[in-house]
Amino acid sequence: MITQLALPQIQHNVVLAPFTTYKIGGPADAFVTVTSKDELVTAVRSAREHDIPYFLLGTGANILIGDQGFRGLVIHNRAQHVSIAGTSLTAESGATIAELIAVSAEKGLSGFEHFAGIPSSVGGAIWQNLHFLAPDRIETLFIEGIVESAEILDIRGDRRIVVREFFEFGYDDSRLHHEEIIVLDVTFALSEKPTEEIMAQARANLEWRARRQPPVKEFPSCGSVFKKIEGVGAGRLIDQVGLKGYQLGGIQISPKHANFLVNLGGGTARDVMELVRDAQQEVRRQTGYELEMEIGLVGEF
Ligand SMILES: Cc1cc2nc3c(=O)[nH]c(=O)nc-3n(C[C@H](O)[C@H](O)[C@H](O)COP(=O)(O)OP(=O)(O)OC[C@H]3O[C@@H](n4cnc5c(N)ncnc54)[C@H](O)[C@@H]3O)c2cc1C
Repeated sequence: MITQLALPQIQHNVVLAPFTTYKIGGPADAFVTVTSKDELVTAVRSAREHDIPYFLLGTGANILIGDQGFRGLVIHNRAQHVSIAGTSLTAESGATIAELIAVSAEKGLSGFEHFAGIPSSVGGAIWQNLHFLAPDRIETLFIEGIVESAEILDIRGDRRIVVREFFEFGYDDSRLHHEEIIVLDVTFALSEKPTEEIMAQARANLEWRARRQPPVKEFPSCGSVFKKIEGVGAGRLIDQVGLKGYQLGGIQISPKHANFLVNLGGGTARDVMELVRDAQQEVRRQTGYELEMEIGLVGEF
């Protein structure tokens, strides 16, 4: 029972929409914000001990939370401590990539700027193997490229240090998808570069994004909804079948980028799911391709 959770500052019936980039999602039965990896461990161990379903929330940029919310405990990860030794940076898993770009650039350390403009916590970045186009705009850079080691909490409740290979990174994939592993902190191997060059790359990425994608502050979304289809492009297929700009309830297939289903205000998880089904059906009917969702579905719909 939720009442057995003896966590400080626990709240009940907390609406989750404001904690996601989609601004969608009903209430969590219980909600706790953790501000250090030790608090994160305590919250997870406590939920496991009492057999209470839990969900670990980073910046909420790769999930759609159901309109009925989450039956269990949502752990909002704000463990954000960062330390730097030489060219190694260690960040707790609730630190955001935006913050890491700022602190590392200031020290003349390069690596994170390639992911500028992507809302993500460190934990979420490991979960999905965060990626973006390299400066040549041909190759793709993955966060795994700068991961050195990490501290994790494993399914048995033990804390241990693991190296990059442990995560078995793939495209939009890591071991975290398949096992109940909690990332507590990550040590990244960065390289030295002048601050101005790092910032110039971060700006170039932000500009690239602004030209092609709807800005998330104005048009809440969770980025690309459908998985990449190599050499074809899920967004291009949706565009090709004439659905760009199509709206259902408060959700619209972005006229700027058809793989972004944006919340125009008051959009619900149900609207998103109906629009997803419409897009899948139309693309299948007209082209034969199957669109597969890439975002995580959380809670009750
Ligand atoms: C506008 C926009 C643009 C985007 N562009 C890109 C892009 O270019 N490239 C890209 O790769 N992605 C992109 N995304 C998707 C998203 O930003 C990434 O997937 C990001 O890594 C999600 O991180 P998060 O902290 O928000 O994770 P959340 O959405 O909060 O969580 C995602 C999953 O990770 C798990 N998780 C979080 N923290 C931990 C932890 N410490 N330990 C274990 N599991 C954990 C959660 O439980 C959940 O299952 C975009 C999203 C938006 C909104």
